[in-house]
Amino acid sequence: MKIDLHNHSYYSDGFLSPTEVVDLAKQEGCDVFSLTDHDTTDGLLEAQKQADKIDLKLVHGVEISAMWNNMTVHILGLNVDINNSILQDGLKQHQDFRKVRAAMMARGLGGAGVFNALEKVKLVAKKGMITRTHFAQMLVQEGVCKDMRSVFKRFLTGKKPGGVGAKWAQFDEVISWIHASGGQAVLAHPLRYRMTNTKIKRLLTHLSAAGLDGVEVVTGSSSKDEITLVSQWAKEFDLLVSSGSDYHGWPNQRVRIGHLHDMPNVNKTVWKDWSWLN
Ligand code: AMP
Ligand code: MN
Ligand code: MN
Ligand code: MN
Repeated sequence: MKIDLHNHSYYSDGFLSPTEVVDLAKQEGCDVFSLTDHDTTDGLLEAQKQADKIDLKLVHGVEISAMWNNMTVHILGLNVDINNSILQDGLKQHQDFRKVRAAMMARGLGGAGVFNALEKVKLVAKKGMITRTHFAQMLVQEGVCKDMRSVFKRFLTGKKPGGVGAKWAQFDEVISWIHASGGQAVLAHPLRYRMTNTKIKRLLTHLSAAGLDGVEVVTGSSSKDEITLVSQWAKEFDLLVSSGSDYHGWPNQRVRIGHLHDMPNVNKTVWKDWSWLN
């Protein structure tokens, strides 16, 4: 069974529509696929329509930003009920913060000589949500930076002109929203937080105590050694394991949907109890 449980559409910072990502997942040979946009489930209605049409199993998902120790981490909610009001009220808080943050970022960029950044970034964002990826795309289009990576470094982090302190909900609250909606909470891409291994293990300790169900062992950019390392942590913390590409579909992104290394501990997968899959 080919499965990919971490993907984005243009309802957050992906490039393609939900219909296009679902079609692509099928084309790449996926049997099971999850759309996990940042802090919104709005793309799932369209994704479900298309998944039904082409007979692809769609897992309703979301990638929620969360605070741990004053840092942002990403927690996937998988197999959630998108009609749950606790989940949607939580996501609404994050969507509201994104609006405030976008205006603050634009003001900061104005101070650095990038004018009308809010108007410009709105033209880039295809749906209501504005992410830092949209700002990055806009600054590349404007010729301010040569690529997305350098925009993040020069403008969108820490005390840089467009850097704004994150104000997401705390990790335990985010996990409780996911559980309220019947979903499973999975820490996304543990090796992408610029933390030492000691610190990641502290993160896993705190999240596990708050009810974390699983950890993403395989991502689109994982090496074999990284997979071995994270699957050892999964064992150590008695967490389920998940696999997802984190596909965004930006033109220069190398990651492809469904192109993932095998999972080492296959009997402890996050999807093992989803009876509707079988
Ligand atoms: P946001 O949730 O609006 O803060 O945006 C975070 C998103 O920006 C992440 O999900 C990534 O897709 C993207 N991102 C973060 N850091 C970088 C980076 N250094 N280069 C390119 N994209 C990045
Ligand atoms: Mn993203
Ligand atoms: Mn992420
Ligand atoms: Mn992601």
